[in-house]
Amino acid sequence: DTKRIGFIGLGIMGGPMAAHLVRAGHRVTGYDLERAAIDRLVAAGGEGAADIADAVRHADVVITMVPADPQVERVMFGAGGVLETVAPGTLVIDMSSIKPGTSIAVAEAGAERELRVLDAPVSGGEAGAIEAVLSIMVGGTEQDFAAALPLFEVLGRTIVHVGPHGAGQTVKAANQLIVAGNIQLVAEALLFLERAGVDTEAGLKVLAGGLAGSAVLDRKGRVMRDRDFTPGFRIDLHHKDMGIVTESAREFDLVLPLAGLTAQLVASLRAQGGGGLDHCGLLLGLERLNGH
Ligand code: NAD
Repeated sequence: DTKRIGFIGLGIMGGPMAAHLVRAGHRVTGYDLERAAIDRLVAAGGEGAADIADAVRHADVVITMVPADPQVERVMFGAGGVLETVAPGTLVIDMSSIKPGTSIAVAEAGAERELRVLDAPVSGGEAGAIEAVLSIMVGGTEQDFAAALPLFEVLGRTIVHVGPHGAGQTVKAANQLIVAGNIQLVAEALLFLERAGVDTEAGLKVLAGGLAGSAVLDRKGRVMRDRDFTPGFRIDLHHKDMGIVTESAREFDLVLPLAGLTAQLVASLRAQGGGGLDHCGLLLGLERLNGH
C-alpha cells in the first residue's frame, strides 16, 4: 500500500528514516532547513520540497523529526505549517523527542481539524536509524497506531503502543534517563580501570557478558575507548531530554536523585562548550572533574 509521505526534518535520524520509506516503495516528499539534507533525500529517490506546506500538501501521512519543542511547534502550528495545510484524515506522526505536554497540545489542535496525531519518539541512535532497527514508543489511539504500524515496521524492530497522546514521550524521557546515567557509569568504570592500570579492552569485553552488559556499554564503551566524540546524539539534545525528565519529575512531586545528578553533569559539559559533542563526551566532563 503506497503512501504519500511528507517528511519534515532530514537530519541525523530523519535522513536515513526517510530513505528507508522511499526504499519500501512510498512516495516521500521531504523538507529541511538545510538544502544538503534535501539533496540527500533526492539522491535516495525521494522528492524535495520548497517549504513545509509544499512537502505535506498532498500527503496521506506526515512525519516530523526535528530537534526539540520549539521546532515542533513551528512546524505544526506556524503559518504554512502542517496543521493548516494538510487535509482532514491525514495521519500526523511526530517522531521528535519533546515534552509530553507539547505532544498532547499537537494532538488536541489536530483533533479539531480531524487529523489523526501520534507521538512516536524513537531510541537506537544514528546506527538504529541507518539499520532500521529503532525502538519506537507510540502514544495515541489504538486505531491510529494500527494505521501507522506498517510504516513503523519499515523503520524499527521494537514497536509498542504505550498509551494515549504524550505517553510515547514519557517513555522516551525514561529512556533518556537510563541512557545518560548508563553512559556516565560506563565513563566512570573506564576511568576507574585506566587508573588501576587494567586493560580496558579486556575489561569491557568481560563486563559486556555479565549483568553490567548493555547496549550503551557495547556501543558507547567502544566509542569512548576510541575517544571519538563526533555525534551521534548531541549533548545539546540530551540536555533538552534531561530537562524533560527533571521537569516532569517535579510536576509529579517525584524525587529522582540520579536523574538530577546526571542532568547536572550533562549541563556542565554543555556549559564548557561540549553541546555539539556526542553524549559519550560525558567521559571528557568526568576527566575534567578529575583534573585531567
Ligand atoms: P538533527 O539536528 O541532526 O536533525 C534535525 C533536522 O531538523 C535538522 O536537519 C534541521 O535542519 C531540521 N529542522 C529544524 N527545524 C526545522 C524546520 N522548522 N523545518 C524543517 N526542518 C527543520 O537532529 P537528530 O539527531 O536527527 O534528532 C532529531 C530528533 O530525534 C530530536 O528530537 C532528538 O532528540 C531525537 N533523537 C535523536 C537520536 C540520535 O541519536 N541522534 C536518537 C533518538 C532520538
